[in-house]
Amino acid sequence: MRGTDPAVGVIASSAAACDSLATLADVVRRCTACAELAALRTKVVVGDFPVNARLLLVGEGPGATEDEVGRPFVGKGGQLLDSLLAEAGLARSAVAVANVVKCRPPGNRTPAPAEARRCTGWLDRQLELAAPSLVVTLGLSALRWAIGPGVRLRDVRGAVRQWRGTRLLPTYHPSAALRFGPAGEPMAMLRADLRAAAEVLG
Ligand code: URA
Repeated sequence: MRGTDPAVGVIASSAAACDSLATLADVVRRCTACAELAALRTKVVVGDFPVNARLLLVGEGPGATEDEVGRPFVGKGGQLLDSLLAEAGLARSAVAVANVVKCRPPGNRTPAPAEARRCTGWLDRQLELAAPSLVVTLGLSALRWAIGPGVRLRDVRGAVRQWRGTRLLPTYHPSAALRFGPAGEPMAMLRADLRAAAEVLG
């Protein structure tokens, strides 16, 4: 229930107490706030935070491969992402990547609103500590973390805005690009938006 979940405040204060991404990662790996996700996960996928990354990509949550490996976007969607980043002149190794939720939702379901509300306490602090020059949200869950519940991707995708002391560029999720195929609009838009991200970063 909105506003009455004590875990939201507990996570926000634990996150605020972390003064580095490494400390935060240690705390996140021990999180059991979402009982179902904590019981079923293999690994907590905290995120990749290369030092001084200027770009932060935010996805929805780990899939099966990410849960096994413990890193974000290392499955099929990740391979696509890596190749579109490379096409845009962006090396994945220099890009920070995280998710709205750090534990795999069973069957790759969309994270429940309560799970997303809790877990974004970690993500909000990761954003503060990483201080990127640009955040690119991939898909609707990440967009809703950034802007709020009612927003529609088609109304905002591809437009860069000032946001939380940095800049935000919403785009499609790689899984939508894979679903609609190489000739589909999500692939074209994701490709164009990652190129735009590279231009914004100069
Ligand atoms: N989908 C996501 O949103 N994040 C991942 O890390 C992998 C797949």
